[in-house]
Amino acid sequence: MPPRIATRRRLPSLACYAMSSMIALTITLLLASTPQPALALEHVTVALPGQPENKLSGEPIVEARDGGMLLKTADGAIHRLPGSTIRDRKSDSEPLVPLTREELTAQLLAELPAGFRIHNSKNYIVCYNTTPTYAEWTSSLLERLQRAFISYWKKQKSPVKEPEQPLVVLVFADQASYADYSKKDLGASVSNIIGYYNLETNRIMMYDLTGMQAFRQNAGARGSRHDISTLLSQPEAEPLVATIVHEATHQIAFNCGLQTRMVSNPFWLTEGMATFFETPDLASSRSWSGIGNVNYSRFDLFHDNYDAGKIIPLERMLTDDKLFQTPETAVDSYAQAWAWNYFLIRSRPKEYAAYMKTIAAKPVLVEDKKGQRVKEFRAAFGDDLKTLEDDFYRMMNRVK
Ligand SMILES: [Zn+2]
Repeated sequence: MPPRIATRRRLPSLACYAMSSMIALTITLLLASTPQPALALEHVTVALPGQPENKLSGEPIVEARDGGMLLKTADGAIHRLPGSTIRDRKSDSEPLVPLTREELTAQLLAELPAGFRIHNSKNYIVCYNTTPTYAEWTSSLLERLQRAFISYWKKQKSPVKEPEQPLVVLVFADQASYADYSKKDLGASVSNIIGYYNLETNRIMMYDLTGMQAFRQNAGARGSRHDISTLLSQPEAEPLVATIVHEATHQIAFNCGLQTRMVSNPFWLTEGMATFFETPDLASSRSWSGIGNVNYSRFDLFHDNYDAGKIIPLERMLTDDKLFQTPETAVDSYAQAWAWNYFLIRSRPKEYAAYMKTIAAKPVLVEDKKGQRVKEFRAAFGDDLKTLEDDFYRMMNRVK
């Protein structure tokens, strides 16, 4: 590609480390597992390390040879239960019925510290201890995203459906209380991550961004309509809101049938698709105009890397998930994955939809065999990767 003529203001691009480590953790734990032939409800008593004995009822998605299992419960969570933690187990032949909004709400309020309240919207339950105004702003952003996301994939003829129960989002009043709650998931990186989707609990965790020092006009101010407008008027807020949209995209994709939790999802696909949608549309209109636009913070980085000869070879990008998890290579890999997803979604929509379907149908907790990723990619997009790459660079070259 020729050198860029115009230089755009570059906003920092954030990588989504939380999601990545979650998948890796799960896949290594129950590797020796066999699929469960018939679905039934299991009632198990479990004693996880450092926790009191707990009773769980749900559908085993996969069972391990040592008696351990991945158990999906009626709140949409998937629990990793090693065989050594299961004290008692009974089965019946009842189907798993998802909790209703009222049941989910009761569970959330019982679980969270005192002071949390609920904001209901059509497709979300926002559980918050900041202001009702901020909770409402969050839910309206996510409602617009979900509506636009589902209609986008329907237009692409992908078999997407509305989530089977409301999606749960926790919004903490400030970074400190969020960090305190989330450190069990994120460890030391909690201070760098402003929000994340947890594949196991199926929830999003975040905090009220208007309370951040950088955006505050008055000490202690937080969560009012005015504070939200002040936040959104500052360019520094854009990557932060993009992160929330990115995480919400993961949650929707894993709950509308487009992607499957706990299968071997290639990171270039999961993360690249989330970056395709992350351009925030902060206008208050009902539609989401940002979908399919160039994500300039990702594109500019990709372009600079291209000029600097720092492009990851295609087959490596398809197969090496560690590129997306290692801090030194993550942001560059996200940029390149954005470029490839942008190219494939825009120029090969049917093939992309078919490829997504193949990946979503993979067995749970089974790692890919050597060469499988490239084989699946070729099956969807053709054997001639050289021509495909030529087309890719041609399209990237036309991006203005
Ligand atoms: Zn992500």
